[in-house]
Amino acid sequence: MPGGDLTTAVAIVGGGPIGLALALHLDMYGVPSTVFNTEAETRWHPKGNIHNARTMELFRKLGIADRIRTLGLPGDHPFDVAYFTRLNAHEIARGRTPSRDARIATRQSRPATDQLPEPTHRVNQMYVERLLFEEASRRPNVTMLFGWTADGFAEDRNGVSFVTRTGAARRRRTARITS
Ligand SMILES: Cc1cc2nc3c(=O)[nH]c(=O)nc-3n(C[C@H](O)[C@H](O)[C@H](O)COP(=O)(O)OP(=O)(O)OC[C@H]3O[C@@H](n4cnc5c(N)ncnc54)[C@H](O)[C@@H]3O)c2cc1C
Repeated sequence: MPGGDLTTAVAIVGGGPIGLALALHLDMYGVPSTVFNTEAETRWHPKGNIHNARTMELFRKLGIADRIRTLGLPGDHPFDVAYFTRLNAHEIARGRTPSRDARIATRQSRPATDQLPEPTHRVNQMYVERLLFEEASRRPNVTMLFGWTADGFAEDRNGVSFVTRTGAARRRRTARITS
C-alpha cells in the first residue's frame, strides 16, 4: 500500500456488509471509493442469518445473488424451526421453512412478472461478508484499507479531512475526501 496522505472521492468508514455492499454499488455506477475497516479481515463469527428478498435483489443487481445462494447449508437442507422437550426427545412444534432448492423451484414455476424474483436466503453473515470482501477487492474502483481506523473528521469549505491509523504503533496517514 502506498504511504503518505491519500485522497478519495468517497470514504466508506466500516467494511461490514453495509460498507462493502455500498462500495460494490458505487463501483457499479463507476464511482471510486475507499473502504476503511479497523480489523484487517472480515469478522469470522456467527451473526445475521436471514438475507431477505430485498437484500437478495440488491445482490442480484450486483450480479452476485447466485454465488451468495451457493453459500450456507446444502440445497436440500430444510430451514424448519422446531421445539423439543430435549434435543433427542419429544418434538412439541415445528415451523416449516423451505430449503434453498425448494425456494428456487418455486421461483422457477412463477410467471416472469412475479413480484419476488429473489426469495429469502438463509446463510450466515460471516460467509456473505467474506464473499463481498473478495468481490470488492477485485474491483479497480474500490480501494480496500482493511486494518485502518478512520476518525477525527473535520469539514472545511473544500471538503472533509480525517486521520486514518493502523497497527499497534497506530501508524498514521491523513486523508481527504475530494469531489
Ligand atoms: C450475535 C449477532 C447476531 C445477529 N443476528 C442478526 C440476524 O439474525 N439478523 C439480522 O438482520 N441482523 C443480525 N445481527 C445484526 C447484524 O450483524 C448487523 O446489523 C450488521 O452486521 C450491520 O452491518 P454494518 O455493515 O452496518 O456494521 P458492522 O457489521 O458492525 O460493520 C462495521 C465495521 O466497521 C468497522 N468500524 C467501526 N468504526 C470504524 C472506524 N472508525 N474506522 C474504521 N472501521 C470502523 C468495524 O470494525 C466493523 O468491521 C446480529 C448481530 C450479532 C452481533
